[in-house]
Amino acid sequence: MLLCSLLDANIFIYKFTLSLIHLVIFTSNIRNNLSPTMNAARFKAMPVIETGVCRFCGHNKKCRVINIEYENLGQREVYSEMLLECFGILLSNLDRPQKERLVCASCVHRLRAACSFKNQLLKCEETLKRKIEGKLKI
Ligand SMILES: [Zn+2]
Repeated sequence: MLLCSLLDANIFIYKFTLSLIHLVIFTSNIRNNLSPTMNAARFKAMPVIETGVCRFCGHNKKCRVINIEYENLGQREVYSEMLLECFGILLSNLDRPQKERLVCASCVHRLRAACSFKNQLLKCEETLKRKIEGKLKI
């Protein structure tokens, strides 16, 4: 019970910190008068490391950095945040050198699929709840 509370508090602090970072980036973009197109260009410049050890599967592959913003189909994605949101897993040592913060394309695809599945499930659950609540009120 105490462990759950500590984990919840830890996740809350992490998400709150991320919100502050996003706010700073957002206001910084407004201040710098960046257009969405220029922001997209910023995403595409994010690094792809030719060879490195993936922290999610342990294989030596072409990788991306776990805690840097990337873009996929016009959407911002940060793999450490997606992992936290989807599974509640808070990765450690994200301040280590870049070569120790890598994730391969296969694991990125699996993470995206997991996040997508979770969102689909939550949406269906919400729809079901609304239907049941609607029936109960009649
Ligand atoms: Zn991997």
